[in-house]
Parts: sequence; structure tokens; C-alpha cells
Amino acid sequence: MADVTVIGAGVAGLWAAYALCQAGLTPQLIDRSGAPGPHGCSWWAGGMLAPLCEGAVAEPVITRHGAQAAQHWAGVTRVTQRGTLVVAMQRDKAELMRFARRTTGHRAVMDMAELEPDLGSAGQGLFFEAEAHLDPRAALADLVAALAAHGVRITQAEAAPETIAGPVIDARGLAAALPGLRGVRGEMLVLRAPEIRLSRPVRLLHPRHPLYVVPRADGVYMLGATQIESADRRGVSARSVLELLSAAYALDPRFADAEVLETGADLRPAFADNVPRVVVRGRVLHLNGLFRHGYLMAPALAIQAVRFLNTGTKGDLVHED
Ligand SMILES: Cc1cc2nc3c(=O)[nH]c(=O)nc-3n(C[C@H](O)[C@H](O)[C@H](O)COP(=O)(O)OP(=O)(O)OC[C@H]3O[C@@H](n4cnc5c(N)ncnc54)[C@H](O)[C@@H]3O)c2cc1C
Repeated sequence: MADVTVIGAGVAGLWAAYALCQAGLTPQLIDRSGAPGPHGCSWWAGGMLAPLCEGAVAEPVITRHGAQAAQHWAGVTRVTQRGTLVVAMQRDKAELMRFARRTTGHRAVMDMAELEPDLGSAGQGLFFEAEAHLDPRAALADLVAALAAHGVRITQAEAAPETIAGPVIDARGLAAALPGLRGVRGEMLVLRAPEIRLSRPVRLLHPRHPLYVVPRADGVYMLGATQIESADRRGVSARSVLELLSAAYALDPRFADAEVLETGADLRPAFADNVPRVVVRGRVLHLNGLFRHGYLMAPALAIQAVRFLNTGTKGDLVHED
């Protein structure tokens, strides 16, 4: 017998089910597709755990909770703790100075080669040593395995909270269609460039086309990501491919010879303030609005939801409707 039903096996639902297990409860996990995959927003993420860099534009609550994310994930999957390097071309030096003013926990890097020999010694940067990254698809698979070890398997079914008895955690992402929830389009590419060796996420600041490159195993890189206020669900646009590749080329011209392995696009679920929350409506807890912070914020959101279910304690991410 399940104590709680979780609907949705994206990063939010998987973390909710995992946090329930950690608290000694038995979840039932339902997903319309039966497993994490390209149908869900979580599939397309870069996997950056970058609470300090995100602080340049996000609310302080993201930086505060995000600071614990790497530690939470390390109990489930492989987390690479090598920081983030933020760089700017000489002509965009003002962007770098603005970024430095809006963030904390960084030091100036005058010689990129000190950290990433492949970037050469040109340009200037900021190093956020405390940040980390993970491989999102491996992380989702590791969460599924951790749940299986607790005897929890994903039931493939279409579900809605109102048709289920007992406590429900609704983690359907954008499909939940909650009031005020919107989609923010994000597009990405995956390239194989074995001759380039980057060991940590690199963010290239640019006034119009910012880029980040996240290393995966075996010379594979995720390039992301656009952020467009649009509910367009089509694949990556030619313009976005052009812009992402041009920025990558500016970072290292050898990206021009890379093999394009994959392109992807999805809509990030977001509330007006781009802050995720647990919306409590009676016996249903909606975990949603993870925007560009799904991997960064899912652990904190899930832990607060389970604490609320268990003890009624209302953390700062919990909102009663
Ligand atoms: C290009 C890109 C890059 C990103 N990079 C990062 C990053 O580097 N770091 C970071 O922290 N975040 C990043 N994000 C954000 C992150 O991916 C999202 O915040 C997160 O995936 C949202 O997760 P979710 O579980 O709410 O939704 P989803 O992953 O969409 O999961 C929802 C699940 O619910 C299921 N479902 C829906 N309706 C039903 C139903 N009726 N019945 C049963 N099941 C249902 C779906 O099948 C799906 O599996 C990125 C996003 C994009 C698009």
C-alpha cells in the first residue's frame, strides 16, 4: 500500500519519490511514459549545479537552496565538483564586470590556461570554485535505480490528482497547467569534439547570445541554451543552431569540426517570478515551476514537500493556496 502517490517521473517527481523513501514513506510513482525520456523537460538539461552564477539573474532563494544541491545529488549520482568558468571576449569585458558585480563566490582569472589549457591564455574570466555539474540523463537513471532499490517502480499511466485517493504529489511539469505557469523555451545541441578538452562548464558571456558548454564523458559537450518566452514546441530553430554554434566557435574554433550528435528543445515550466514552489491544495501538493533550475532546486523542493506532508512544517518554498 502506498502512503503517497507521485505523478510525473521528471527530476521533480523522481526527487519527490526519493525523498519520501528517505523519510520512511512508501510512494507510488506514475508517469504517462513509464520512464524519464525525451518527452520530459528534464531530458534536455545541461546538468549545471550553478547556484552562484544563476544568482546573476535569479532570486536569492535559488542561490541559497541551490548551494546544497551538489551535496544532495552526490548521495544519488556522480557529481563533478570542478567549479564553473565564466569568460568573455575582450570586447564584452563590460558584461564580465556586470556579472561579477551581480554574483558572489568568484575569483578573477587573468590566464584561462591556468584552469582550462585548451582555452589558451586569451580573454578574462571569473572562476566559481564551489559549483558543480552532473550528467542529467545518468542522474535520472540513477534516481530510478535508487527508487528500485527501495522497491518503487514507475507505473506507466496517465493520471490526474483529482482521480487519486489520499495524498498526491503532482510533478507533471508544464502538463499540470497550474494557474500562472508558463513555458519558457530552451534549445540545446550535443556535440562530439574529442580534440577539445574542457573539464568544467564554461559560460561565455555575450550581450545577445550567451552560451554555456557542459562537458560530458568521452569528448561530448552539451551546448545551451536559448531562453525564449514562447510556448513553441517545435524542434530547434535554424537561428538558434547558428547562434549557439557561432558562440561555441568563438570560444574554441575547433567546435566547427565537431560532430553534431543531437539537437533538442523543450519548455521549462515557470511561474512569473521564475521561482519553483510547492503549492498546497488540500491533499495535493504541486511541485512545479522549476524553470532553469530543475536539477539545482528539485532536492530542496522535494525535501520541503515531504517535511510538510510529515510534520506540517512550512518551508520557504511551500505556499498554501
Ligand atoms: C535546454 C535546457 C537546459 C536546462 N539546463 C538546466 C541545468 O543545467 N540545470 C538545471 O538545474 N536545470 C536545467 N534545466 C531546467 C530543467 O530541465 C527543468 O527545470 C526540469 O526538467 C523540470 O522538471 P519537471 O520534473 O518539473 O518536468 P518534466 O521533466 O517535464 O517531467 C514531467 C513528467 O510528468 C509526466 N507527466 C505529465 N503529465 C502526466 C500525466 N497526466 N500523467 C502521468 N505523467 C505525466 C511526463 O511524462 C514527465 O515525465 C534546463 C532545461 C532546458 C530545456
